[in-house]
Amino acid sequence: MAKVMTINSGSSSLKFKLYEMPEEKVICSGNCERIGNADGIFTIKYGDKKDVSYPVFPDHSVAAQTLLDALVEKGIIKSFDEIKAIGHRIVQGGKYFSHSEMFNKDTEEKIRSLIPLAPLHNAAHLTCFQAFKNVIPDTPAIATFDTAFHQTMEPEDYTFPIPYELTEKYDIRRYGAHGTSHKYLSQEGLKYLEGVKHPRIISCHIGSGSSITAIKDGKCVATSMGLTPLGGIMMGTRTGDMDPSVFNYVVSVTGKSAEEVYQMFNKKSGFLGVSGISNDSRDVLAAVEKGDPRAILANNLFNRRIADYIGQYYVRLGGCDLIIFSAGIGENEPRTRSAVGKLLNEAFGVEIDEEINKDLRGKEAVISTPNSKIKVVVIPTDEEVMIARDAYQMCIVEGKKSN
Ligand code: ADP
Repeated sequence: MAKVMTINSGSSSLKFKLYEMPEEKVICSGNCERIGNADGIFTIKYGDKKDVSYPVFPDHSVAAQTLLDALVEKGIIKSFDEIKAIGHRIVQGGKYFSHSEMFNKDTEEKIRSLIPLAPLHNAAHLTCFQAFKNVIPDTPAIATFDTAFHQTMEPEDYTFPIPYELTEKYDIRRYGAHGTSHKYLSQEGLKYLEGVKHPRIISCHIGSGSSITAIKDGKCVATSMGLTPLGGIMMGTRTGDMDPSVFNYVVSVTGKSAEEVYQMFNKKSGFLGVSGISNDSRDVLAAVEKGDPRAILANNLFNRRIADYIGQYYVRLGGCDLIIFSAGIGENEPRTRSAVGKLLNEAFGVEIDEEINKDLRGKEAVISTPNSKIKVVVIPTDEEVMIARDAYQMCIVEGKKSN
């Protein structure tokens, strides 16, 4: 038995989970929010307790120190050296990483070189890694990349049709995202496919950020997000795929700078932009129920883009044995699953069992009828356990060190 910590850091937050491995038992979990602000929030859950306090987190180092101190103060661990490994989630691994890697100088430099592709995330990940290194320098750490699972795509699936010199010089290509989630879902999904020789899975990670992935024989063959998480289907505030000339046209008609329009496509579009109501699908669906025309348009657009990608990936995979819904909307929103199922019915014979679907929230279940030509399931995703598994395997079973 060994304690392994997973860290999921953003520009202003640091989420953590402490596991007992290899049992995969969660000992505690929590979040340091509003790092860099005068009013931090620290939440920690352990056993049946949940404590919330309001320390100031000037930076990630203070947040790391606060959470580690809290583990000792609350008697969750006796000393820091009980933590035998740390796994950091890294958003962008570029072309360099097709699996988790030990954190060392080389890994750090590569993550740093990819900051332009994920400015908010990769910089925060490195700050956070350093923060833990300052407090517990001898604990080995790994980096688990959101892009790694998608590295098995073929050039036809990841190359953008721009001048090839640019592709080569600047490594411009589809990297995808949510890879750890799609990998988890595809592994969990296998239990519904006993006897299928070459399983073909389409996994739909549908949350405020959303991506869809086509998986054959356990390997990603195509994924919807692109160079950055702006690509693919429409999302809470992001456009997803569009005619690229929309960008140039909006710059020229509004007089806004390229950067301003880029921010608009990232933060003011999608559900929020089309509905004018909210980035949260719950608010948009509430307005749909009241007949709001723009909410109806936003919702229909969203459902169609999901169905379009599933159709595209059905062709790419040469068929499909399992469709998986997951993440905030996929796990909790029966109306979206039902609407997508209806859009897939005529072409693919997908049939959702509305009785099962209508009350299913946050739980795993088959939601298609026995007659459905493709099985459809809901599986709650768990990226952290994948990180904890890799950290346990590499740092404890294989005994690798960080430096
Ligand atoms: P991310 O990890 O990308 O921030 P999540 O996967 O947590 O996002 O998804 C968040 C979105 O999921 C929310 O914006 C909301 O639209 C939807 N959502 C979350 N919880 C529920 C729920 N209980 N019922 C319906 N929709 C939900």
